[in-house]
Amino acid sequence: WSADTIALVTGANRGIGFEIVRQLAMHGLTVILTSRDVAVGEEAAKVLQEGGLNVLFHQLDIVDPSSIKVFTEWIQQNCGGVDILVNNAGVNFNHGPDNQLECAEQVICTNYFGTKNIIQAMIPLMRPSSSGARIVNVSSRLGRINGRRNRIGDLTLRRQLEDVDSLSEELIDRTVTSFLEQVKDGSWTSGGWPQTYTDYSISKLAVNTYTRIMAKMLSDRPEGQKICINCYCPGWVKTAMTGWAGHTSPEEGADTAVWLALLPDQVVTGKFFAERRELVR
Ligand code: NDP
Repeated sequence: WSADTIALVTGANRGIGFEIVRQLAMHGLTVILTSRDVAVGEEAAKVLQEGGLNVLFHQLDIVDPSSIKVFTEWIQQNCGGVDILVNNAGVNFNHGPDNQLECAEQVICTNYFGTKNIIQAMIPLMRPSSSGARIVNVSSRLGRINGRRNRIGDLTLRRQLEDVDSLSEELIDRTVTSFLEQVKDGSWTSGGWPQTYTDYSISKLAVNTYTRIMAKMLSDRPEGQKICINCYCPGWVKTAMTGWAGHTSPEEGADTAVWLALLPDQVVTGKFFAERRELVR
């Protein structure tokens, strides 16, 4: 890896995202640390720059179309393209297993639609390389379709989401929209949705299934233009999101993202990982 390799990390002013930037930069890459807040983002980048790392800062709010447009133009002009994209930015308002669904719209919009926004904006800028460009989505075990606990109760929907041939972006969008409608009219408790961390689990299930669809679509690209896309769970990590109650450090939480981003001659795509191992979805 060299400074010519451009990696981009969203929501990187703190937590796991900050650590992913640090670890990628330690491998000699040029890393763009992005944050929705300019002051905290610049401060975070400064800490890494002062440590001698090749880190640049740019503002990026993954749910703000004008921010995405400005960022896309900037990266095209200043870096010429992107080799590695890590979609890390996310929100969760459930600090315990109790649901606080007043924020469900923000959770779904950020974690799922925001991630999609950045993937769609960056794909045209991703540079062909012999080992392929890479996208890593920071997701969660809570979004596993077949996790033993906390899964979608509607068997038909679960089977549709599980079967990559019947899976479509439209089905995922319809699923999350239907959940949000039920939150609004108060009927979500009988909708067969995961019973704990409900909105967050659904948002990450959407990310996991979207990763599979994109992997299928991107694998049709000609040789030399391939983009691999995978997702992973960082574990339960001591960050602001968990109120620092996790049992894993941000350094450990970042590890699998960096490993996936830098896998030599990456052929694996559309998979879900944790601790550097593939998990059944
Ligand atoms: P933090 O809350 O520490 O960090 C989340 C980051 O996302 C912050 O930088 C936050 O910015 C940013 N963010 C939120 N909304 C937006 C937006 N609209 N645009 C750009 N950035 C945004 O949490 P973690 O580091 O723990 O979480 C990182 C990722 O890991 C998330 O996707 C999370 O779901 C996932 N994850 C975390 C787990 C854990 O145990 N911590 C477990 C499983 C998954 P700001 O500072 O401005 O709020």
